Amino acid sequence: MSPPSLKTRERLSEVRYEIRGELARRARELEAGGRILIKLNIGNPGAFGFRAPEHLQRAIADGIADTDPYTHQQGLPAAREAIAAFHQTRGTPGAAPDRVFIGNGVSELIDLSLRALLNPGDEVLLPSPDYPLWSAATILNDGRPVYYRCKVANDFLPDPDEIEALVSSRTRAIVLINPNNPTGASYPRALLERIVAIAAKHDLLLMCDEIYDGILYDDATFEPVAPLAGDVPCLSFGGLSKVHRACGWRVGWAVLSGDPARSDAFHHAMDLLGALRLCANVPGQFAIDAALRGVDTITPLCRPGGRLHEARRAVVESVAASRHLKLVAPDAALYAFPGVTGDAAEGFDDHDFALELLETEDVLIVPGSSFNVPYRNHFRVTLLPQPDALREVFSRIDRVLARHADR
Ligand code: PLP
Repeated sequence: MSPPSLKTRERLSEVRYEIRGELARRARELEAGGRILIKLNIGNPGAFGFRAPEHLQRAIADGIADTDPYTHQQGLPAAREAIAAFHQTRGTPGAAPDRVFIGNGVSELIDLSLRALLNPGDEVLLPSPDYPLWSAATILNDGRPVYYRCKVANDFLPDPDEIEALVSSRTRAIVLINPNNPTGASYPRALLERIVAIAAKHDLLLMCDEIYDGILYDDATFEPVAPLAGDVPCLSFGGLSKVHRACGWRVGWAVLSGDPARSDAFHHAMDLLGALRLCANVPGQFAIDAALRGVDTITPLCRPGGRLHEARRAVVESVAASRHLKLVAPDAALYAFPGVTGDAAEGFDDHDFALELLETEDVLIVPGSSFNVPYRNHFRVTLLPQPDALREVFSRIDRVLARHADR
């Protein structure tokens, strides 16, 4: 008889991260067998030929000789100064190096900050759809995700009245993902002001995942929450992965703002948890100053003629030409979240569709329900491939959907 297998943490059964899940595993098998796939599952610019700007690469090369020691748990002082200065320019109240936490990507800081905040049974208001790490980290830190809906009919914007109705005595934080992954929505200022007022009224921490803050199309704008939040405790997340195309360097930060007296204990908790993991990857931190004080390299990619702008155009036009798809055009970020409509939507299952698309058309997408929505007729693609590759992807998607519509 074989020995019993190791037990694992029970709450893991509630956690999903399908962006790198079963479909991605199947894709690797197909590739090992010689198939050439177009993989649209991960927002990983480096995998699509984007490079981190050269002045960032040089900053790391210049600093590498000084990267041997551990740093302060909150990060290199010079890097924290650059982040604080960037936030001061934005108008974040009380942005100071001492209130900046640098981590191994925003991912680590999402986990760390929820661990610092939550006690068993505490609730976190999360958007649906969400970026699923937020749900996972809430659950694994003994919290309970409570979802506010960002409905298709409302252009994927949240409804502040719904958010307020969901607040309970256990609610500890409101998470905002703005600009949004997976929908590409960028929230208007008046909406954010209403959400800030709810946080103020109910004494909640605002957790603002703003990692896509510079990736904006056409006349879309980005409104950071912290400057609107005044004394309300607010944690604003940013990093090098997307705007600076350096996912692999694993550099992210979180800036704590608002009345320090209200967030002192939280600050200490973050500092302690940071100290327990010693420090974040040091070489990548040398690029932060160069990224935040150097030339803007993302805006040209998002303007007409720029690679991301043209990719977005390819997706929007492909969907418009399809009988089977609808789309709230993304204002921002690196994704589109189309829905299946008409005859093809009858009995449609996003997982079955994603698998069929992979097996028969060599295209890997992420089913919409992976982003914690209750419906199953959406999917996410990244805007990172070349525009022509995206047009090709949508012609293959349409071929599969035409088969569905005929069934
Ligand atoms: N937050 C959002 C909304 C994301 O989309 C991602 C990555 O895709 C992250 C956080 C994690 O980013 P990082 O590479 O900084 O860990």
